[in-house]
Amino acid sequence: MTIAPLPPVADHPMIIDGQPVAAGSGEWADVHCPGRRGTVLGRVPRADQADVDRAVAAAHRALPGWRDLHFKDRQIALLRIADALQDAAEELAVLTAADTGNAIRPQARPESQTLVNLFRYFGGVAGEFKGTVLPAGADQLQYTRREPLGVLAGILPWNSPLMIAGMKVPAALAAGNSIVLKPAEDAPLTIIRMVEIANRFLPPGVLTVVTGRGSVVGEALVRHPDVHKVSFTGSTEIGRHVAAVTGERIAHTSLELGGKSPTIVFPDAAADDRLAETVEGVLLGMRFTRQGQSCTAGSRLFVHADVYDRVLDAVAARAAELVVGDPLDDATDMGALINEKQYRSVLDYVRDGRAQPGVRVALEGGPYRAEGLDGWYQSPTILGGVDNTWRIAREEVFGPVLVAIPWTDRDEVVRMANDSHYGLAAYIWSRDLTAALDTAHRIESGWVQVNQGGGQVIGQSYGGYKQSGIGREFSLEGAIEGFTQTKQINVRLG
Ligand code: NAP
Repeated sequence: MTIAPLPPVADHPMIIDGQPVAAGSGEWADVHCPGRRGTVLGRVPRADQADVDRAVAAAHRALPGWRDLHFKDRQIALLRIADALQDAAEELAVLTAADTGNAIRPQARPESQTLVNLFRYFGGVAGEFKGTVLPAGADQLQYTRREPLGVLAGILPWNSPLMIAGMKVPAALAAGNSIVLKPAEDAPLTIIRMVEIANRFLPPGVLTVVTGRGSVVGEALVRHPDVHKVSFTGSTEIGRHVAAVTGERIAHTSLELGGKSPTIVFPDAAADDRLAETVEGVLLGMRFTRQGQSCTAGSRLFVHADVYDRVLDAVAARAAELVVGDPLDDATDMGALINEKQYRSVLDYVRDGRAQPGVRVALEGGPYRAEGLDGWYQSPTILGGVDNTWRIAREEVFGPVLVAIPWTDRDEVVRMANDSHYGLAAYIWSRDLTAALDTAHRIESGWVQVNQGGGQVIGQSYGGYKQSGIGREFSLEGAIEGFTQTKQINVRLG
């Protein structure tokens, strides 16, 4: 295994009004590298309420000019940003691997490419944020305008910041909004760099980034009377708080929250000619190559009792082959967990799951250490014989831990799959499309995949049922709903 050099240590100022700025207080916070314990990647400003006020005021000043442009001018800007981000894609991927711990080949590069693709997509459809005309008679002009909401706060988690920023920023800009981004304290570097690049093509203030603690900067944005929408991605716990605050002041809100998604394997998916494909898909759906730190991880594996041992053994054998190691090394399949707190939380869940009666350890996860490489590494754990009521089957572990539960009857598995306060994603494996689609329609999740485990397709709908969230911003229809408001204008002609 090779240990790749990290990007040079530097200060990474915020971007407000198109300019790099420090916090008004002069305070800075270290950003740590999850793959190299104790290594500091650089510093970011530790902003406070006054910095948030400054960013929101800049976004307000920028709003009329940006909102009132012809859509083609916003389109040109977004497409230029896409080209510049494409040129910087490898740099952004390296930075992602360094500050999130996501492995460069399977995860960090696809993330930075997805960001580029999203700028291209929403640049291309910028003219579609449009209203309708009602045929109400020759003497009437009755039409709607889709107007931007105004100033948006985009609050981001640490697990794949660029991809999640890509799910908010290009669409919101195409619709004519201005945006203040707040990255997670643990992984702010790629977002600052993205905003820096985008600002070369945007009027000052249209896109800003403010760094600092969620309880200070995030809270200030959520409470700010001049922030018209909060687009939040993160945990259900903080999402609930955000919704309470924005509900009180009647501000638009979208929430992309946690998940505990089911993967359901039917007996025919374990046939000799299908097993290998099913196993690859189960692992992909489980997002082991993101260390399981994905809201859509298919972390509850429901396997039909007739093929339970066969599938579980094959999944465990293949997961054991995943190469854990330096996120910046191309040979690595799985990088590092984000920080010590998350690492200890994952170990605690595993301890708890292993202590349950009747549990079977199908794959023993463990720490990974190498010469010169000491980070928050943990290889996959797979537990069999799990009951759907156990804590490890109900709570979001957000780590490389898969639990397997047997089933015998379709109604039973649908009931177990739906027995969760989450409802983000689901994965179904069967060559019997009638059975698969019947199951898909009965699953209470916002996104169901059949016979595949991979990522989102740009333009599709995405969002949660139940406590996995509210709102859809990813598809064109969702973005129009999520980033504009409708004004009806009725004119008597003549
Ligand atoms: P988190 O702790 O909820 O934090 C998310 C963001 O909220 C961070 O920027 C955080 O800032 C900020 N924040 C914290 N307190 C706040 C407050 N009082 N007001 C406003 N903002 C506040 O989540 P995380 O640990 O970063 O991310 C993991 C979670 O995100 C998981 O539950 C995962 O399922 C979910 N997620 C969901 C999706 C989806 O699409 N549904 C995608 C990715 C992740 P600090 O970091 O500075 O505290």
